[in-house]
This record gives sequence, structure tokens and C-alpha cells, in this order.
Amino acid sequence: MTKPAPSILVDLHGLRLDAAHALLGPDSDGLRSTVQDDPVAYLQALIDGLSELSLKDPLTGLSNRRLLTAELEGEIDRVARSGEAALLLMLDIDHFKSVNDTYGHLAGDQVLQAVGKALAGCIRPMDTLARYGGEEFAIVLPSCQPAFGHAVAERIRRTIESSPIRVSPAVDLRVTVSIGGAFALQWIRSTTELWIDRADHQLYIAKTAGRNRLCLEDQPVSTVSAEEKHLLFGHLSAPDPAWIDMSSGAIPGGAA
Ligand code: GH3
Ligand code: MG
Ligand code: MG
Repeated sequence: MTKPAPSILVDLHGLRLDAAHALLGPDSDGLRSTVQDDPVAYLQALIDGLSELSLKDPLTGLSNRRLLTAELEGEIDRVARSGEAALLLMLDIDHFKSVNDTYGHLAGDQVLQAVGKALAGCIRPMDTLARYGGEEFAIVLPSCQPAFGHAVAERIRRTIESSPIRVSPAVDLRVTVSIGGAFALQWIRSTTELWIDRADHQLYIAKTAGRNRLCLEDQPVSTVSAEEKHLLFGHLSAPDPAWIDMSSGAIPGGAA
């Protein structure tokens, strides 16, 4: 029988929580008054607030790179096990420097916020949209079949192209994005760095080809060597039916 864990009493007055409150801003002031009534709920709310802060981009409110990396790792794991398709799009605003140079940094910030909002309107609840850095965004689309990937990304590109962004009462700006995309490698546990690199390479091609366009890597046919296949299937008398279902009747890697 497992013994119940001993309860640990913490005197909240001994904790230095001012920095946490300062990070959470004026919204957390109301929290302070709850510490006497329900100290556990108070501390939990403080931790939840800090956790959310650590996963969000402050300018756009989108997921930040830390959360993106966690999502990518989860997707790589899922695709390696299930063989399902998952698409990563990297998007970069074209000639964004000239927005800053012409209209100022604050207008540039407004453009970043507006593009973030427009992108958020293009995705499904299951997708992850992140600000990757600067004027770059990333979108992870789980369960996105190659047949649909192009249409989805093209719809996103057109939405941005056709959405005017008001940066002052007299100025509406239009910006465009270049988009690069790559599918996760099926049946193979790859790395987030490699997946991002592959999508980034497509983005580079879209940029050099003239911008405001989309380049998607063809979904690679994942090959599994005979040795790897032996490690994967060697202990099975017959292939796992789930694998057959999801790979259209073929064991990944084709003939040994
Ligand atoms: P390209 O089409 O090749 O992507 O050109 P670009 O001008 O968009 O790219 P470049 O890398 O030359 O410039 C990016 C600019 O984005 C420079 C940088 O000052 C600006 N930037 C990065 N982060 C922010 C931000 O948070 N706010 C604002 N306003 N500007 C930012
Ligand atoms: Mg850039
Ligand atoms: Mg750019």
C-alpha cells in the first residue's frame, strides 16, 4: 500500500512574490486580497498566471517560441507513431522593415498585431499559431493531409494580402507574407530543429522567387532501412493492423 504523501505547510508570508505580481501587472492586484481566504487558490492563480506569461508573446498575445517547440515535439512524436500528416508553415512579412522606416516602430507593432489576429482567424482550434520572432510567425497544423496543405496555406496568404491594416485614421496599410511549409517526417522521430529548417528552406525559396508566395516541400516518402524495420517489426509475427490501415496497406519503407 502506498502511504499518503505528507502534507507540506508553506507560510506564504515567507515567499517573495512581489516580482511575480509585478510581472502579472495590475490585473493581479485583486488576487492579493484572496490570500487570507484561500491561500492555495491564491498561489495556484499566481502560478497559472506566470505559466501563461511564459508561453505567450507579449506583443501579439500569440504562443511564443517555447510553446511552439513543445507543440512541435508533441506532433513529431504523434506522426512518428501514427504516420498521420502534420504540416508546419513558417510565414514572414514581406519588406516589413520599410513599414517601420516609413510609418514608425509603433505602426510596425500594430501591423504585427493585426497580422497575428488575421492569422488566428484562419486556423482551426487544434492548430498552433506562434510568433516565431520579429516579423515571423509559425503555424503547426496537425492532421493536415498533403492534398489540403496547399489550399490552407494559400488561403492564409490571400487573407493577409487582402486585409487592410489601419495604423492611423488616414493610413491603411496592406502587407503580404511569404510562406514556406514542410510536412513532418512520417514514421521517423526527427527533431524540431530539422522540421523548422525544412520549412525555413521553403520560405527562403518563396522569398527569392519574388515574395508574397507559398512554397511547400513535397511530402517526403519516409524510408526505413531493413535494419530499422527489423527493430520495429522483428518481434511481431504479423505487422500491427493499425500500421497497415494508416499507410494504405503498405508497411512503411516498402519492400525489404
Ligand atoms: P523580407 O521581405 O526579406 O523579409 O524583408 P523585411 O524588411 O521584412 O526583413 P528584414 O529582416 O530586413 O527586417 C525585419 C524588420 O523587422 C527589422 C526589425 O527592426 C523589425 N522588427 C522585428 N521585431 C519587431 C517588432 O517587435 N516590432 C517592430 N515594429 N519591428 C520589428
Ligand atoms: Mg524575417
Ligand atoms: Mg520579412
